[in-house]
Amino acid sequence: MKILILNESKRALLTSHTEKRCAASPNTVAKLTRKGIDVFIEQDAGALSLYEDKEFEAAGAHVVDTIEPIISQINILLCVNSPNEELILRLANNAIVIGHIDPFFQKSLVTKLCQNGITTVSVEMIPRTSRAQKMDALSSQASLAGYVMVMKAVANLPSILPMMMTPSGTIKPAKIFIIGAGVAGLQAIATAKRLGASVLAYDTRPVVAEQVESLGAKFLKIDIGDTGETKDGYAKELTEQQKNKLEAAQQKAIADSDIVITTAQLFGRKPPLLIKSSTLEKMRLGSVVVDMAAQSGGNVEGSKAGETIKINGITLVGNGNWSQDVARDATDMYANNIFNLLDEFIDADTGNFLLDLEDDILANCVITHNGAITNDMLTEAYKGA
Ligand code: NAD
Repeated sequence: MKILILNESKRALLTSHTEKRCAASPNTVAKLTRKGIDVFIEQDAGALSLYEDKEFEAAGAHVVDTIEPIISQINILLCVNSPNEELILRLANNAIVIGHIDPFFQKSLVTKLCQNGITTVSVEMIPRTSRAQKMDALSSQASLAGYVMVMKAVANLPSILPMMMTPSGTIKPAKIFIIGAGVAGLQAIATAKRLGASVLAYDTRPVVAEQVESLGAKFLKIDIGDTGETKDGYAKELTEQQKNKLEAAQQKAIADSDIVITTAQLFGRKPPLLIKSSTLEKMRLGSVVVDMAAQSGGNVEGSKAGETIKINGITLVGNGNWSQDVARDATDMYANNIFNLLDEFIDADTGNFLLDLEDDILANCVITHNGAITNDMLTEAYKGA
């Protein structure tokens, strides 16, 4: 079996940013080559996550300066992002593509993959089950994002996080309010607590309160009636009345905070708008708001995707691509997720990837196969698109 890993920093895939991560690390390449797999990696693929070609070579990979001779022969293309149309057309029509496909918002790309007979594995669709945890790229990257967002906030704050008692005076701990306590939010809470901040958090899923409190933070209790979660554990969309109630109840906590970090997402849909300009205006000068969702629509009114801006003395951080700030760890974790996925389904005897679409992991994350869209959620979503 032949696997190809692209240099995504050089190649304009379906991204608007320069990708720093790589879909393999020298460690995962060594594990793949030990299985007898031929691993091809495009020159400098690991450069921006600080892995050199010679490390991949030592792990058994063939480093190639052009993908031309092999692109049509490879069995599996490993990506962090999605291949663009030009690349899709050059793949063999039974090739497997694995990457962040962003399928709910990339109907035309998914249609192209489907029309070209590609089997597409969308890492976003890997189910949140115990068995699939080691393959869960959304979680690995969100954990790093939680840490990075706190670091970004701290770097922009004109004060410190911990309480400091000195002969020159006592500094109170900074107040941080984290909205959305999923994987990224919980990691942000843990990071802020380690730095000595006083942390308050809120999530529409009440089950999260206990996890927040176990990290030493307070949970803001707001009664907005039935919220709950989907069968996959994701938040449900709120009614207009619930949204208004939430906004009013959160205003005081936001105005009282030095840092607000918003991490609220709705799977397969645009993130909810949580903080309006009228609420931002109530914050103290120098406060910092980090909007994790700035690139996909924004939790905060006025946040700019890819930028840190100032609005009336408040710093609004909307940089996005958070895990890329710690590109080496992000590459290591993503590469491990992908290796674990391959390892689960590569047959030890034949060395082939076993496409068992009855398996609960593949049934969810394989979204195109044999010229058809194989995920019901997507078929449903595309009907309305
Ligand atoms: P996510 O990225 O979809 O959303 C982030 C958080 O925002 C969620 O906690 C969500 O409830 C919250 N949110 C949505 N709208 C909100 C609003 N208006 N106000 C406040 N908060 C709002 O979530 P995620 O981090 O990907 O996690 C989704 C679920 O999957 C969670 O239940 C998580 O525990 C679970 N999970 C399970 C596993 C596993 O068992 N293997 C792995 C990872 C995550």
